[in-house]
Amino acid sequence: MARYRGSDCRMCRREGTKLFLKGDRCYSEKCALDRRAYAPGQHGQNRPRFSEYGLQMREKQKVKRMYGMLEGQFESTMTKASHQKGVAGENLLSLLERRLDNVVFRLGFATSRSEARQLIRHGHFLVNGRKTNIPAFLVKPGTKIVLREGSREIARIVGALEALDTKSVPSWLEMDAASFTGTVKTMPQREDITLPIQEQLIVELYSR
Ligand code: SF4
Repeated sequence: MARYRGSDCRMCRREGTKLFLKGDRCYSEKCALDRRAYAPGQHGQNRPRFSEYGLQMREKQKVKRMYGMLEGQFESTMTKASHQKGVAGENLLSLLERRLDNVVFRLGFATSRSEARQLIRHGHFLVNGRKTNIPAFLVKPGTKIVLREGSREIARIVGALEALDTKSVPSWLEMDAASFTGTVKTMPQREDITLPIQEQLIVELYSR
C-alpha cells in the first residue's frame, strides 16, 4: 500500500503545530518544531498569508497527517461523514477517532499512531476475540481490543504500557493494563477530542 515516505517532522513544521508523529521524541528537546519553529524550505521563515481556501486546505492537511492517512482514505472518510446523520464535522472526527490504529495509540499500547498501525498490521491484537490487522477498522461501543499473549513481552509495547498514565486515556475508552485489554465504552463525543482541530474548515473545503 502506498504511504508517505518523507520526514514526519517536516509535516509538523509545514503545519506549524505538533502532530505528535514520533512518539517520545515529540516530548523531548529533540523535537524539530521546538528547535526550528518555521516552515521548511527556502521561504519557510517568511510569514505565510493564507486565503480562505488556503486555510481550509491547511486544516485538512493537518488533520490528515495527524491521523496518518492518505488523500483518498481521508476523502472517503469525509464522504461517509457527510452522508451520516448529524453535524458532518463532528461525524468526521468520530470516524477518525474510532479507527483501530488511533484507539490502540489512545489506549497506550503504542507511543504514536504510526507505531500503532505497524503493530496492528503485524497482527498483535485481537478485536472481539478475532485477529485483526486492519488499521482502519472502526470500533464501536463494546469492542474489546486485547494484546495477543505471544506479543506481551515485546519491548516497545511493554515500554509504552509502563509509561502509560491511565488518566490520559480518553473517557470513551477504558484500559486495563494488567490484562492487556482495552474496551470502547461509548462513541467519542466532540468534547472528548481535545486536539486543536477546526473541523468546520474541512467541511467547507469539501463543500466547494
Ligand atoms: Fe512533530 Fe514529533 Fe517531529 Fe516534534 S518530534 S516535529 S512533534 S513529529
